Amino acid sequence: MDPERRLPSYTIRISYDIIAEETPNPEALARLLQLAGLERYIAKPPPMDNSPSITMREYERLIGVVWQVFDPHQAREIFRRVAQSGFEHLNKSQVLAFAQFLRAFDAMGSKRERVAMAIGRLTAELSRSLGNKHELRREGEDFVLDIHDCPYCAELVRGKVTSPETRACHIPVAFYQAAFAWASGDTHTVQEISCRVSNPQQDYCRFKIFWNVALKGQM
Ligand SMILES: [Zn+2]
Repeated sequence: MDPERRLPSYTIRISYDIIAEETPNPEALARLLQLAGLERYIAKPPPMDNSPSITMREYERLIGVVWQVFDPHQAREIFRRVAQSGFEHLNKSQVLAFAQFLRAFDAMGSKRERVAMAIGRLTAELSRSLGNKHELRREGEDFVLDIHDCPYCAELVRGKVTSPETRACHIPVAFYQAAFAWASGDTHTVQEISCRVSNPQQDYCRFKIFWNVALKGQM
């Protein structure tokens, strides 16, 4: 993966808005952006569009700063909100418009096959726009997703930030929880089952989608 690759602007704008809400004043937000090396956004938030903005390396650094500055509970909450907001943004944009046609295939195949098709399209789109490989496969009743060059724990793996957890990638957990709920109409549980924070020799983080396992509080 090219660390200098520029991500679509909405990825940073979504994080920016949520971090702004979680910091008490503009000075605190400015300081946080400074720590992340994103001073250029202090006076001028990035646009909510697909124009090229921060590099993947800068995005990884911003996630690291959130771990450093906020307590773990607050950081997890920020990541969860970033993921949900990111999914909602994609859903409102044309990225998921292909899903409309899946309804025409209601009579064909099982729901799980249709969901595999919809999420497969989504992961292909994310591999294209973010530049790192997302691999989805079925495993018995469930799904397994590998995110290669996972950016969500990159600063922890590099040792730039001390890891508070052994499985640190909360953004994809919440993102795919929302995506699978959207594609199927039901709640499924997503867990990170192997994170590079605990297995730094891996070049991916692995997530499992437990089909039809809904936990209390998720419904
Ligand atoms: Zn991870």
